[in-house]
Amino acid sequence: MGTAFTPHAGITARFPELKPALTPQAAMVEANRCLNCFDAPCTAACPTHIDVPRFIKKIATGNIAGSARSILEANVLAGSCARVCPVEVLCEGSCVMHHRAEKPIMIGRLQRYAMDNFYGRGLQIPVRERPELPLRVACIGGGPASLACAAELRQAGVQVTVFDKRDLAGGLNTYGVAEYKQRVSESLREVEAIQSMGVEILQREIGLEDFEALEQEFDAIFLGVGLGEMHRLRIPGGEAGVMDALDLIAGYKTGEILSIGRTVAVIGCGNTAIDAAVASKRLGADEVHIVYRRGPEEMSAFGFEYEHALQEGVKFLWWRQPIALEAGTLLCAATAINEAGELVVGEMRTELAAEVVVPAIGQSPLAEWLSSVKGIQFAKGRVVVDRATGATSHAKYFAGGDCVNGGREVVDAVADGKRAARGITAALGVMEVAHG
Ligand SMILES: Cc1cc2nc3c(=O)[nH]c(=O)nc-3n(C[C@H](O)[C@H](O)[C@H](O)COP(=O)(O)OP(=O)(O)OC[C@H]3O[C@@H](n4cnc5c(N)ncnc54)[C@H](O)[C@@H]3O)c2cc1C
Ligand code: SF4
Repeated sequence: MGTAFTPHAGITARFPELKPALTPQAAMVEANRCLNCFDAPCTAACPTHIDVPRFIKKIATGNIAGSARSILEANVLAGSCARVCPVEVLCEGSCVMHHRAEKPIMIGRLQRYAMDNFYGRGLQIPVRERPELPLRVACIGGGPASLACAAELRQAGVQVTVFDKRDLAGGLNTYGVAEYKQRVSESLREVEAIQSMGVEILQREIGLEDFEALEQEFDAIFLGVGLGEMHRLRIPGGEAGVMDALDLIAGYKTGEILSIGRTVAVIGCGNTAIDAAVASKRLGADEVHIVYRRGPEEMSAFGFEYEHALQEGVKFLWWRQPIALEAGTLLCAATAINEAGELVVGEMRTELAAEVVVPAIGQSPLAEWLSSVKGIQFAKGRVVVDRATGATSHAKYFAGGDCVNGGREVVDAVADGKRAARGITAALGVMEVAHG
């Protein structure tokens, strides 16, 4: 699978980095603030349990490559995670500095500093020395869950083939994460690093008719297919001028969408809605509204993402529900909570200018596809697994990431992929070797 990609200069200029790289001096000062806590709460808060004090100490002593290697031992997509993780609610959110009324250590930016230095110097992910095993695993989907699973399996000497239906691998890390957090090329840099470990990545969509052949050919199959399309808006008039939030984000990231209408209404108030609204502003819209049927206290977007949208000039229209779209005008009805605690639509109507309407009201699970894989238990739109091993109810299949957790963060998908790889090696009888 190719990783060749040429960024569009106009997009790069419009989406400058939200958190630029630390200079070596700033990184050194920040690394020296860390208290190297013995019982590091930051490490416990990281789903992949990166040894935070250890990697920060290595930066403080000038051993940047060693720092990156320590990070990679725990998290093979550490470059992405450094940029895209909601560190405010994970590692940095648990830093003891909060109790001392001081700013938490900039763990994410220090991690990025170590990883940028590592890749900038052309270093390779260290592969443990061990014999190649006559075992083959297929990972379906090339997002963070499968990539982490594949890398961990390679460390055990297992041969891995990743199948992804899109032109570029990386899943939402490549196509979904906002450009001011992570550029496509940065995601692809990690895909290449994983390929260089000996992971084969093929550009191929796996259909239901392929499973029998895959089951014959491979010793185990990992399902890391993520979620499906965004939910549709389903309002009268709601097709012309409507653009799916994921298509908008993937479109501008790959340089296919360079501008948007003057007025944009984004429906929903999760992190994807925020990303779509900020992107619309950056693509040149004058007025961007987020329309949400509940109040600010119930939005699923993180507080810092909400603050960012406000700074970008995005406006919020609370307690409104779109009911029709006509010739660039979105008709919204007022909503409220009744005495029984239910959301009800009231009489009051608001008209909002919206040349483009962007629904960001959640992704559907790949229900039909996943529930057709014979012998796999599927409930509430998710593949049912044993959380410790990623094992499904079919002995040959394992799963992880968004298709299991219903849609969380990149780091959760990485942690799932890693756990599943260990589940697979245990199921295939591979002897555990000490991690070097
Ligand atoms: C708009 C948006 C912004 C986000 N921003 C952030 C963020 O800032 N920080 C953060 O931590 N998380 C963010 N997330 C969440 C994060 O991207 C996901 O949790 C993570 O990517 C899930 O990884 P995954 O491997 O399970 O699935 P995905 O990344 O979705 O990868 C699944 C892959 O499977 C492939 N696939 C599907 N079906 C098939 C098939 N039949 N055959 C072959 N290939 C197939 C797809 O092409 C895709 O590449 C965001 C999500 C969205 C939607
Ligand atoms: S909690 Fe904060 S101070 Fe303590 S080790 Fe982690 S980053 Fe350093």
